[in-house]
Amino acid sequence: MGWILRFINNIKKRVNERTFCNLSVEECDKAEKIILRKVQSECFEKNRNLSMQTYLDPDDLLRVKTRIIQRKDQDSFRYPILLPSKHHIVDKLIFEKHVELCHAGIQVLMSTLREEYWIIKSRKTIRQVIRNCLRCKRFSIHPLQSISAPLPEDRIREAQVFEVIGVDLCGPLFLKDNKKCWIVLFTCAIFRAVHLELVSFLSTDSFILALRRFISRRGR
Ligand SMILES: [Zn+2]
Repeated sequence: MGWILRFINNIKKRVNERTFCNLSVEECDKAEKIILRKVQSECFEKNRNLSMQTYLDPDDLLRVKTRIIQRKDQDSFRYPILLPSKHHIVDKLIFEKHVELCHAGIQVLMSTLREEYWIIKSRKTIRQVIRNCLRCKRFSIHPLQSISAPLPEDRIREAQVFEVIGVDLCGPLFLKDNKKCWIVLFTCAIFRAVHLELVSFLSTDSFILALRRFISRRGR
């Protein structure tokens, strides 16, 4: 068992000897290039007969010769890095940009990513990545629509106006002398006509009075 202890102590010693600090910009750039080179080697190594003109830059990265190489602009824009459409690193790259740009849409992502990368079938690839974003999904989803039930016979049969009614009360309203009053609302269930009656007290008597006024005006 002695060799295992020696092995663990050796690792501990090496970890303690390592210096820890924040990554510099150069280190991040270098790491990115290594990762992209790995992605390209996995996807384009076998299938080099691409439909576009490409070349290998000094960092061994495959870049696209676009039609705007005459333009005075950044090299990364004129010669973007070629990336495949189906690779989890590319998906992560798109998603990171999507979150960084406050959950931007396809068109914004396409033009922003194009400044540095040339993703094959970019629109389709970006759409697939955005579709999996949970936060975007929450905003784009539609509420469940329920099918409305058929109306009862009393609402659709041929009848006189105010033959079938619904009654409701609204208020209180305040008169000029600060007295309260209420409105009794009679609605025709078939023609949606309304009849209003004013009552000054909330009692059965005043309601019966309102009903009698309604009947004398609209019929029984
Ligand atoms: Zn999103």
